[in-house]
Amino acid sequence: MKSLDEYIHDAEQAHGHLCAGQVLGVRLAMLGLQKLGIDDPHGKDRKRLVTFVEIDRCATDAVAVVTGCRLGKRALKFRDWGKMAATFVDVGSGKAIRVAAKESSKALAREMHPEIADKNQQQMLAYREISDDDLFATQWVKVELPPEEFPGYKGERVVCVASNITNQFSASSTPPARRRAPRAESLPRQNAFPGSAGRSAACLLFCRMALRSPEFPPDRRLRCRCRPDT
Ligand SMILES: [Zn+2]
Repeated sequence: MKSLDEYIHDAEQAHGHLCAGQVLGVRLAMLGLQKLGIDDPHGKDRKRLVTFVEIDRCATDAVAVVTGCRLGKRALKFRDWGKMAATFVDVGSGKAIRVAAKESSKALAREMHPEIADKNQQQMLAYREISDDDLFATQWVKVELPPEEFPGYKGERVVCVASNITNQFSASSTPPARRRAPRAESLPRQNAFPGSAGRSAACLLFCRMALRSPEFPPDRRLRCRCRPDT
């Protein structure tokens, strides 16, 4: 693995600016890979990793930089739950770890550097200095990853009769994936955000993983975008 400074430099280039989210995302991903024993994510270990991110904010770009996981390679999975957290899955060993930023880190940054008025600058510096234990909560989790979720999986292709454009479906939208989803009534109540047709199966899959995590968001009913009828 590269050093923290090297990854932060790379993240700044990829993201377009340097911000607290880049520092946090780099450290979050480095910790996840370190826990999994993956030390060359862009080289010999590049096919070992699938990463689930739970937010589409600055830090997510940094997670992609460190892990080498990309949406276009199907190695980066986005679950829109608004959590500053990511789950790193070693597809070789089956081990997976979820790393979540602690909310207390913001207050800690204020305590450590009250002399810095700008919040972003204050957090950028503090997030370099705070220990892993104070910055993150980690938990080993079980992730069920069916074949269609793996990088390289070729989904079903259908030509839309209205637009004449080919749709290539992946795990989040294919009928086979949906059939694998558990019955809705066996799951906790979900969802105040209807209208997200077709993505429930993968979401439910991840919900099952999430349910095994005691610290998983207590407001899951509000954040989970699963459709209640699937
Ligand atoms: Zn940013």
